[in-house]
Amino acid sequence: MTDQPAPMSIQAIESYHAHVYFDGPEARQRAEVLRDRIAQRFPVQMGRWRDQPVGPHPTAMYQVAFEATLFPSLVPWLMLNRQGLTIVVHPNTDRPKDDHLVHALWLGAVLPLDGTGLEASLSALGRAQDEIMPNTTPALTDI
Ligand code: ZN
Repeated sequence: MTDQPAPMSIQAIESYHAHVYFDGPEARQRAEVLRDRIAQRFPVQMGRWRDQPVGPHPTAMYQVAFEATLFPSLVPWLMLNRQGLTIVVHPNTDRPKDDHLVHALWLGAVLPLDGTGLEASLSALGRAQDEIMPNTTPALTDI
């Protein structure tokens, strides 16, 4: 008991990413529907389409970056509406490697992430998390 590290505070979470994975044209169509539906409902920073694996991600995907205050509405909405797609939701703290490999929450299958390029600590490198800049204009309030 006593040799366990102290628990992390949720105050460490500056924002979240949801990465929506798709593999093949049929899944990409479902990902398009989901992307539009998210953008119609939530003020998020929608990332561009990544049709090839990039960084730690094993398949094509796009990123949805969002403020922590959106978690209790967006994440349950994704649970109900993910179109059968696999989604990882990870917090953004000072520790990108842990955020992806240890702290993440998966909807659907758990995919193997490659943590080799992820930093253990941003502050140790004099860096900070990117600010979230919402680029959607949600018009639907009934989620
Ligand atoms: Zn991410």
